[in-house]
Amino acid sequence: RREILAAERDLPSQTLDGRAVALRANVAASIEAKAANAANADGVGLLRTELPFLDARAWPTVDQHAAVLRPILGKLAGQPVTVRTLDFADDKFPPFLADQAVDGHLGRGLPHMLADPQAFAHQFRAILTTGAACDLRIMIPMVATVAELAACAKTLADVAADMGVAPPPIGAMIELPEAVAIADDLAQAAAFFSIGSNDLTSQILRLDRRDPAVSPALAAHPQVLGAIARTVQAAHRHGIRVSVCGDAAAHPLVIPLLIALGCDVLSVAPAALDETRVRIRRLDARVCADAAAEALGCETLESVQRIVRRRCWPSM
Ligand code: PEP
Ligand code: MG
Repeated sequence: RREILAAERDLPSQTLDGRAVALRANVAASIEAKAANAANADGVGLLRTELPFLDARAWPTVDQHAAVLRPILGKLAGQPVTVRTLDFADDKFPPFLADQAVDGHLGRGLPHMLADPQAFAHQFRAILTTGAACDLRIMIPMVATVAELAACAKTLADVAADMGVAPPPIGAMIELPEAVAIADDLAQAAAFFSIGSNDLTSQILRLDRRDPAVSPALAAHPQVLGAIARTVQAAHRHGIRVSVCGDAAAHPLVIPLLIALGCDVLSVAPAALDETRVRIRRLDARVCADAAAEALGCETLESVQRIVRRRCWPSM
């Protein structure tokens, strides 16, 4: 089965009726960058950077960031690579932020990082240095306000100017209901959006993402679909592209809906690249559009899943 999926590696990632959907990889280590290359990904849509620092005792230095990034970015020269800045949060909690937690909760890491401007400057410098050979973009996780994104963009511009290079495009992750609510304003300030369906789904449905019962399939819930639809519409009104980098981007019951709602890029785990490409290539975007129109009017996840199975995957 693996060979059958791999047989389409070099064929375009597009639907039967010719809708192109860029297929990128989520990576956090050089072995994953290698796997993404082997499966012919169109670059990296999400480079997670916080994982090596979950035991950190302070904000990482430029050298510490660079040591983590260099082996990964070195395998991705010439490719589009979206590097996400440190995404510390309740589920990824480094000890040095423990004293900032309220009642044991850190919440989002972004405000803590913005409170220490050097923290961002150091990471940006490391990214620009080690990613100079890549087609870089930088993405900010857990954005809740335009001011947060603007503060990040300002620090990035300052670091780039200091290094004598052009700042790469900076985008916002849309993974909080607050961000969806201000998607039009954010779209004016961002170069792209990337929907974090893992957090967005659990936030909208008020679930704990650490609960093993929380599946990527839940992104097909009508409430989540509505949020994704509003996000994409706002982005396209302002001429920016939308990627989906949560695990829903590789789920067969969600892929047709993401395509129908206009998502431009799907970014998935390296192991899911072949299968996701094959799925995209078996879909008709017009059929997906009919399914999504019906799904947006549903009350329950189960009815959405019935619609997608019947219309988009009749033989599944
Ligand atoms: C997400 O929330 O969907 C996402 C891609 O980021 P993470 O899973 O790292 O929070
Ligand atoms: Mg997230």
